[in-house]
Amino acid sequence: METNATGVLPDWMADLHPDAWTVPFWEAAKEHRLVGARCVQCGTFRMPPRPFCRVCRRQEIEWVDLPGTGTVFTYTVVRHAVVPELATHVPYVIAVVEVDGAPGTRLVAAVVESDPEEVRIGRKVAVRWDDVHENVTIPRFALADS
Ligand code: ZN
Repeated sequence: METNATGVLPDWMADLHPDAWTVPFWEAAKEHRLVGARCVQCGTFRMPPRPFCRVCRRQEIEWVDLPGTGTVFTYTVVRHAVVPELATHVPYVIAVVEVDGAPGTRLVAAVVESDPEEVRIGRKVAVRWDDVHENVTIPRFALADS
């Protein structure tokens, strides 16, 4: 379903291609759970999960539930539609969010339900689940401390 709402990206942009390492993240998202991949050997989070831990070089990971909150590390406000289909969606905010409960983990996500002019580095955000398609749910974030 096309939302066509300012700040919410169109559904056709949600074209996921998960692989063996990322399927658990997207399966948890469908259940509205934000999870992170943690090394079973040394506890280092690695998102997106890569085949080897950057600290201890082990491969095994475990997926742990995260609280679904975080902090804006950086962001950009997109005001110009780079393709005509985005003209009714600007302005929108894309942020890099430091995720609580998973040190070193940063997710790139849209900031929704929030005034783009209020988004700042350091603001707290909370996850908002966007059930885009029957099989695709994407984590977005909204300002949580306003
Ligand atoms: Zn490790």
